[in-house]
Amino acid sequence: MSEHHLYPVKPEIAAMAHIDADQYHRLYRQSISDPEGFWAEQARQFLDWEQPWQQVLQCDFLNGDIHWFMGGKLNASVNCLDRHLDTRGDQIAIIWEGDHPDYDAKLTYRELHREVCKFANVLKAQGVRKGDRVCIYLPMISEAAVAILACARIGAVHSIVFGGFSADALRDRILDADCRLLICADESYRGGKIVPAKINADKAAAQCPNLTTVIVIKHTGHAIPWHPERDICYRAAMAEASADCPPETMDAEDPLFILYTSGSTGKPKGVLHTTGGYLLYAAMTHKYVFDYHDGDVYWCTADIGWITGHSYVLYGPLCNGATTLMFEGVPTYPAADRFWQVVDKHQVNIFYTAPTAIRALMAQGDGYVTRTDRGSLRILGSVGEPINPEAWEWYYHVVGGARCPIVDTWWQTETGGILITPLPGATDLKPGSATLPFFGIKPAIVDNDGHILDGVAEGNLVITDSWPGQMRSVYGDHDRFIETYFKKFPGLYFAGDGAKRDEHGYYWITGRVDDVINVSGHRLGTAEIESALVLHHDVAEAAVVGFPHAIKGQGIYAYVTLNAGVQPNDELKKQLKELVKEEISAIALPDFIQWAPGLPKTRSGKIMRRILRKIAANDIGNLGDTSTLADPAVVDDLLAQRARQ
Ligand code: ATP
Ligand code: MG
Repeated sequence: MSEHHLYPVKPEIAAMAHIDADQYHRLYRQSISDPEGFWAEQARQFLDWEQPWQQVLQCDFLNGDIHWFMGGKLNASVNCLDRHLDTRGDQIAIIWEGDHPDYDAKLTYRELHREVCKFANVLKAQGVRKGDRVCIYLPMISEAAVAILACARIGAVHSIVFGGFSADALRDRILDADCRLLICADESYRGGKIVPAKINADKAAAQCPNLTTVIVIKHTGHAIPWHPERDICYRAAMAEASADCPPETMDAEDPLFILYTSGSTGKPKGVLHTTGGYLLYAAMTHKYVFDYHDGDVYWCTADIGWITGHSYVLYGPLCNGATTLMFEGVPTYPAADRFWQVVDKHQVNIFYTAPTAIRALMAQGDGYVTRTDRGSLRILGSVGEPINPEAWEWYYHVVGGARCPIVDTWWQTETGGILITPLPGATDLKPGSATLPFFGIKPAIVDNDGHILDGVAEGNLVITDSWPGQMRSVYGDHDRFIETYFKKFPGLYFAGDGAKRDEHGYYWITGRVDDVINVSGHRLGTAEIESALVLHHDVAEAAVVGFPHAIKGQGIYAYVTLNAGVQPNDELKKQLKELVKEEISAIALPDFIQWAPGLPKTRSGKIMRRILRKIAANDIGNLGDTSTLADPAVVDDLLAQRARQ
């Protein structure tokens, strides 16, 4: 099986890298043996502080009580902007690439700084004060970066809601965080279609009694409904605003933002991150995981509505003075070569995307990739789900031309930044493995009774000690924070994911613990079975869940999406079963295979197995929270197919 392949570190990558293998091991050991000394040094190196901290860390996992850099004072927008002005004021901070390839724009650090200061004054004029929550419901336009950093400048806590979410999802998040002010666009473009952003915002706002102000950014410029007593035009307000806005002095532990999780496993949680530790962790991981060097053009395709967009489109790169690309569109518009066209157009060196996009593009065939150059690429990254070895190999060989290491980065909204990952110049790669912990991260695998397992092991993935980027609370519900992450294995941070550790100490994420299937006493991770299914050249994507089975306890139900143009047939089902038997064992053989033209996914592209589980079990009365589904029609389709089986 492909998981036995090993791709050693490339000498030419190691030669230029910030961190090689020896340095990784030495620094990692130091970060574990003297965490406070290690993090103090990093905090001095990566951030500008107005006032130093008195204590590096105070932490009690049992009460969910976590403080980093206590007493330290700083401002995130100063670290992302002001301090770069002398050295790189005229360097491009943001390359914006529109939904349509004819539209792009560039913003220097000086220009971005000016816009941020002006907008910070606009917010202040609307009565926004330190600690107030501001909801940002925007597409991927540069004004989104302006809004985010303007909040950070005046100490307002931003809560970004993905611009593709419905009015209901937006309303729930405004109410939960009790936001008084909302920033939205008139409309947005997505894959050539128009999203009625202001109309959605109006619907949500009508149900949020405390929301008094809506700032509207003209993007398409089409006519929209207007409520003069509540709505403010961004451009008009900016035209009058002063560009002088002294930053608010923030405590390291003052909240920076609230962000709701994807909702793959249940009702989204309002994850609260604070200023000092989060920013340090985002900046440091950005530099080392992507081996970022001055002058690199860096592109993370994530939307700012997800944590990946927070940490690796904006905060991390801007804190490091990087040139970061913001893409408004989708990978398949106007055609399935869009990513690679953008890479060539802007000469992108570092490219970071999600397995869902890689699988979707792989299903379209190699031609869309090979007709582009991609010679500028040096590092590739993956995040969001386990990447199947098959998709990894395609990404590596076809997209990267076997030149670029792939960093498969495991982390969560809750972790603020990447926790388990290769480093390009230090780590030999195994397709499908997130490999080794980042500096300061102590992962462990525990059995269901909470015993820490040594050596080669499989079980629940936990982190035993705090790191600066860790979330501090669930907004407004600290008990839920303790309950969700620290109760199951007292004293340990429980991630909710399962993992294996191999003979080299490499970690393999096996999927959500809730998704583990127990067939006749054998525990099977969904990732492994799905990876076997997608090995078949006709299969684009697969999702596997358990369902109640009278004899085996649980049976295996596989949803399979075929490549463009392939007709489903029974012979194919036979081949797929054979493949699983060969790759894993007869125990993992699916009892049912259902053809799925599409799979239910969150807006960030994660497969929602909890819904597939209900369909497989024919328990379709209550599908749970579906507010974060990208396309609810997919579920109706699957239900109809299920009924026919
Ligand atoms: P919710 O917590 O509301 O169910 P979610 O867990 O999908 O939503 P995120 O924080 O966006 O919300 O996703 C984090 C999860 O994504 C991880 O717990 C893990 O399951 C998965 N994940 C992210 N990156 C990787 C990766 N490189 N390999 C394997 N799994 C990954
Ligand atoms: Mg989660």
